[in-house]
Amino acid sequence: MSLIFYSEKCLACGQCVEVCPFGVLKLEGETLIIGDGCNLCGACVEVCEVEALALPAATGPSPRPAVPPDGVWVFAEQRGGVLAPVTAELLGEGRRLAEELQVPVAAVLFGEKVAHLSPALLAAGAHKVYLAEHPRLQDFLEESYAAALTELARQFRPEIILAGATYTGRAFIPRVAAALKTGLTADCTAFAIDLEPRLLLQTRPAFGGNIMATIITPRTFPQMATARPGVFKPRPLEASATGEVIRMGTAFLDAPARSRFVATVEEIKERVPLGAAEVIIAGGRGLKEGKNFRLLEELADLLGAAVGASRAAVDAGWISYPHQIGQTGKTVGPRLYLACGISGAAQHLVGMQSSDFIVAINKDPKAPIFQVADVGLVGDLFEIIPALIQEIKRDRG
Ligand SMILES: Cc1cc2nc3c(=O)[nH]c(=O)nc-3n(C[C@H](O)[C@H](O)[C@H](O)COP(=O)(O)OP(=O)(O)OC[C@H]3O[C@@H](n4cnc5c(N)ncnc54)[C@H](O)[C@@H]3O)c2cc1C
Repeated sequence: MSLIFYSEKCLACGQCVEVCPFGVLKLEGETLIIGDGCNLCGACVEVCEVEALALPAATGPSPRPAVPPDGVWVFAEQRGGVLAPVTAELLGEGRRLAEELQVPVAAVLFGEKVAHLSPALLAAGAHKVYLAEHPRLQDFLEESYAAALTELARQFRPEIILAGATYTGRAFIPRVAAALKTGLTADCTAFAIDLEPRLLLQTRPAFGGNIMATIITPRTFPQMATARPGVFKPRPLEASATGEVIRMGTAFLDAPARSRFVATVEEIKERVPLGAAEVIIAGGRGLKEGKNFRLLEELADLLGAAVGASRAAVDAGWISYPHQIGQTGKTVGPRLYLACGISGAAQHLVGMQSSDFIVAINKDPKAPIFQVADVGLVGDLFEIIPALIQEIKRDRG
């Protein structure tokens, strides 16, 4: 299948050449040359005012209807019948976006015997729940989950699909986007709506976290994004919320699958899981040696906190990778984040700056961490932390 070109209509204006993201088109004099590598993205078709270019029928991305039939969808991630925290976070954000677009927000719930989770999804902000239950959906399998979401999206045609950029979301959502022939922005940290064209503005860190890129999906449908866990705030729970639970047929999952679930192996245990921690004590290169993390652990034990780390500390082998916070680690949003001997590089900040209250200890008054800190302590962490521990112990008798 290739791009259709009506040479008799072409004015050789060159607009298609300018917009082609792959440099496939060029003008030789008045003649448009279509080179190799066209993936039928449709950018040229859209700008061509005289309709000299067209996509072959039944190929190319799904076109966007003016007002798509269904609203905003949030994939409700659950494991073993327990909803992942990112689900409520995305339902809060999805509801905000849906209200701007004046459409409903739906939670999409897959599993086996998980219908009892529907009230929690309605309480967290969903107007309705699409529910698919099948033995093949009991444990997470990319193949089955992707097939189910693709089928559901084809049937009900949502305008936007959001999922957590968790292990699960990252693993199967790209398959869904590919099957629906639409775009996907991974790992978003902010969303907004451009109302008139009904575009989802999908913002994520790019180029090593040095810039924030805002990405749109103007030509294909639905608009899909995964979002970092811990960035968005859930709505206050509305226990009395009610809504429709729509069960979908799952007969298509009865066909033999290419993969089957064997077991889950838990690899590394964190002392207190970072994702669920209300208080995080994080250490960086300023700790000087791995054994000094014991100081942070002592403070963490007193506060029931989790211990986090910068990549510098992890790379030095002072603490294991599951503790890393930042662009290539975890994103956290605790009530209190205490950064000890961490400079505040952009790649670290992107993983913790949505914390409710940030306290930074650093001996360099110009350290960038102070720009995001609510309270900054300029001084030596080896003096401040033992004093803090002593004070807490004394306070508790
Ligand atoms: C693609 C990419 C991805 C990355 N991903 C991540 C990521 O996920 N997470 C992450 O953290 N980084 C990440 N980084 C690395 C990041 O750029 C920084 O190098 C790193 O965060 C620095 O860690 P740090 O603040 O512990 O060390 P440093 O920048 O060396 O800062 C140490 C700080 O400790 C202070 N200090 C020293 N001694 C004391 C003391 N006694 N008392 C108090 N303060 C003291 C110093 O003043 C200094 O500010 C990434 C980089 C790249 C290029």
